[in-house]
Amino acid sequence: MDPLPRPADLVPETPGDLSVRALWREGGTAERSWVLGGWFATIVACVLLGLATVREGWSGIPVDLGGANAFLTFYPPLPLCLWWTLCFGWRWGAVPAWLATFVLALDAGMPAAWAALFASANPLGLAVLALGYRAVGAPRGLRSLGAWLFFVPLCFVAAVFSSSGALIWNFSHDLPAHRQLPIWQGWWLGAFLQSVLLGGPLMALTWPRLSRWVVARPALFTPPPRGRRALGLGLLFAIVLAVQGYGLVSLGLGSLQLRTALGSHDWAKLDEASRAMLSTAWVFFWVFTLIVLFVAQFGYQALSRWLRSTEALVTQLAQVNAELEQRSRTDGLTGLANRMATEEGLRALLRTVRRYRTPSALLMLDIDHFKQVNDRHGHAAGDAVIRALAEVLKASSRDVDLPGRFGGEEFVIGLAHTDLPGAKRFAERLRERIAATPVGIEAKDGRVASIAYTVSIGVTVLRENDPGVEDALRRADAAMYRAKEGGRNRVESVDADVPTSPRPVPPASGNA
Ligand code: GH3
Ligand code: MG
Ligand code: MG
Repeated sequence: MDPLPRPADLVPETPGDLSVRALWREGGTAERSWVLGGWFATIVACVLLGLATVREGWSGIPVDLGGANAFLTFYPPLPLCLWWTLCFGWRWGAVPAWLATFVLALDAGMPAAWAALFASANPLGLAVLALGYRAVGAPRGLRSLGAWLFFVPLCFVAAVFSSSGALIWNFSHDLPAHRQLPIWQGWWLGAFLQSVLLGGPLMALTWPRLSRWVVARPALFTPPPRGRRALGLGLLFAIVLAVQGYGLVSLGLGSLQLRTALGSHDWAKLDEASRAMLSTAWVFFWVFTLIVLFVAQFGYQALSRWLRSTEALVTQLAQVNAELEQRSRTDGLTGLANRMATEEGLRALLRTVRRYRTPSALLMLDIDHFKQVNDRHGHAAGDAVIRALAEVLKASSRDVDLPGRFGGEEFVIGLAHTDLPGAKRFAERLRERIAATPVGIEAKDGRVASIAYTVSIGVTVLRENDPGVEDALRRADAAMYRAKEGGRNRVESVDADVPTSPRPVPPASGNA
């Protein structure tokens, strides 16, 4: 029997991260050069693109958010790093993201310590993204609505974490109040839109092919993440933190702008600040809508995965139980019903006899001089004879009959709807067939030996007034004893009405 699968095998697998060490040790030359070459090319591209966004002034696209201005940040390294993170793991995306931002910040004249902190904002966002996929194991191919419903809100949460960079930027540049909110708004919105509109399609295009490689090369990846409950909790915590942080910063910066404008008594500034506050409030509404959707989707996915794995476990359990039940009723050597199952079958047969008042018959059968078979040819040959006899019994019985191994080399057959003369004819045919069917075995010297053997059979009928099957078994056993006494290789019968002197039923063999 196959061992029971662990519950972890039943939930959809999320492979771990691509391991650099495993790739180096076990990866083929082509794999190594594609992945590592591609990664170094990405790092160089990210650094150059990062520098270009600042030097060429691509970094902010001014947009009008319902009357309030924002600078939609455009930062090409971000979708690239998102791709590496989702495909191969957080480190693969975080390193180019950090290096690109660090270099551009130094280039823009930021002190190194601030630049290092500033550069950590995008890796932080990517970490949230990686955490989300580890916790939920949602499809990364983004080819279904469900996959997008998970991806989009997660991108928002990641974007809020990424845009902590805006706060550092604002703080380190000591920007005035009315410029801080637009930068923050544009930053998270830019990160969010780029992740969804560029990163998403990039995943949808490349993941189906790439995932085949991932599945084919499990040795290159770290084991699937354990402790999904903790990961799920971490994700929920990140979501709550993102929403709270987002609300606090948006409203805080909006209020700051509004307060400064109120103090200045400048109508134009007041107008701008209240518009900004208004649009912030609306964006806030949509953000909450998005997050509620996300949490609902996240909960639904977690619930359905849990239900699926529970259902699979229950089915597996039922299968194993059925198999165990079957094994507990089967004789290991012959595949016939064992003693317990045979007696159960006979009891059912007796119930039918009582209900329909038609007789059924019972045969008890024992191999003659079986000890000699064992002594002459060995125990294995004895087993072969028992198996061969079982095959003859199976082949001779109808599917309503109940052949079973009662113990050792002793068998019982219940014959449904059969009277005593019919059962005697059946027993006689069976006896002749057995005597005429020797068993071929491989002898110790390698030659094929043939073992002829005979059986003695006792026959009786199950009557409706039989108090239990034990009585019928006792009669059949007594008849078989008479067959032994009468010289073996014989059939003897006893009718139900004839009283029999009891003979103790021999104890069951340990093999039954
Ligand atoms: P009789 O004609 O009186 O039945 O003589 P017998 O030698 O068959 O005597 P008996 O029924 O008492 O002996 C049964 C022997 O069958 C004893 C035991 O060693 C052997 N036996 C019981 N179960 C198995 C088994 O599963 N495999 C083998 N090889 N031998 C078995
Ligand atoms: Mg015997
Ligand atoms: Mg015996």
